[in-house]
Amino acid sequence: MARIIVAAAEELLDQEIKVLNHGFVRLVDYLGGDARIVQSARVSYGQGTKSVRQDRALIYFLLSHQHTSPFEQVVLTFHCKMPIFVARQWVRHRTARLNEVSGRYSVMKDEFYVPDPSELRFQDDKNKQGGSGSLPLDEAISIIELMEKDQKAAYKRYESYLEQGVARELARVSLPLSLYTEWYWQIDLNNLFRFLWLRLDSHAQEQIRVYAEALATCAKAVAPMAYDAFEEHMLYAIRFSKTETAAVQRMLGGGEHGLEGRQLQEFEKKLHQISLNSAEST
Ligand SMILES: Cc1cc2nc3c(=O)[nH]c(=O)nc-3n(C[C@H](O)[C@H](O)[C@H](O)COP(=O)(O)OP(=O)(O)OC[C@H]3O[C@@H](n4cnc5c(N)ncnc54)[C@H](O)[C@@H]3O)c2cc1C
Repeated sequence: MARIIVAAAEELLDQEIKVLNHGFVRLVDYLGGDARIVQSARVSYGQGTKSVRQDRALIYFLLSHQHTSPFEQVVLTFHCKMPIFVARQWVRHRTARLNEVSGRYSVMKDEFYVPDPSELRFQDDKNKQGGSGSLPLDEAISIIELMEKDQKAAYKRYESYLEQGVARELARVSLPLSLYTEWYWQIDLNNLFRFLWLRLDSHAQEQIRVYAEALATCAKAVAPMAYDAFEEHMLYAIRFSKTETAAVQRMLGGGEHGLEGRQLQEFEKKLHQISLNSAEST
């Protein structure tokens, strides 16, 4: 069968989706779409695409039963630009191929991530990886001014090392994590869904979550039925542990959940999510 062309994806090609103050996500190319998932799944039975309704049902069935290999037949290539601290989290997703700008070869650009005052939060007491509650605005503004001052000073120092003839590979060592880097990043749809599932989650850091949202826009354009199935069976699906399932059983029987501490907190978050999901669907 000929190369699959998806009109919505064609429209997105080469468009920069702006993220943070200097970053972006740009869909460079794609291979396949919903039709490729269906074709490759049906090769088991020697049948091609059928009606839209049957194709959708098949895609939902595949994802809900973890039959994920047909989703690996769809591949997306992105050009992305992000602060180094975001790239450090991003690169943990090993099932992708990437090529990053070289700070040994090129002079790094004078571009740094600066948070918005509203993003500066206090360290959360319980969640050691997160923040809670905003800093007072005047305090946030003065901290951001200091951050910018440090960034400018670090970049000036970098330039002075370069002027002294220091090799770029070591002149860069004083540059901070807020410096922007960029790369080409290629991933199949199955592993992109896993990335999105983790990084669209409310536990993910806000500054990578906004990149996940831009990547999600591209995934949705390339394979809209598969993206719907991802929302249905992964993103908005809620999984209960064995202990939580027992608590639900007790509650359905009219009893108390019987949970406390951290377990209760996690359980309440899930119940809250269910109430949000049901409010959205009414
Ligand atoms: C909220 C949050 C907080 C985090 N905090 C930290 C932290 O504090 N410190 C830290 O180090 N990391 C942290 N991480 C990163 C996390 O531990 C994972 O490394 C990251 O999310 C990538 O997930 P993954 O392994 O499923 O993805 P991928 O690497 O893309 O892997 C996808 C799937 O392929 C499998 N796979 C990948 N490579 C191989 C291989 N070579 N052989 C066999 N199977 C393979 C994986 O097991 C997985 O099932 C955090 C992630 C999140 C979302």
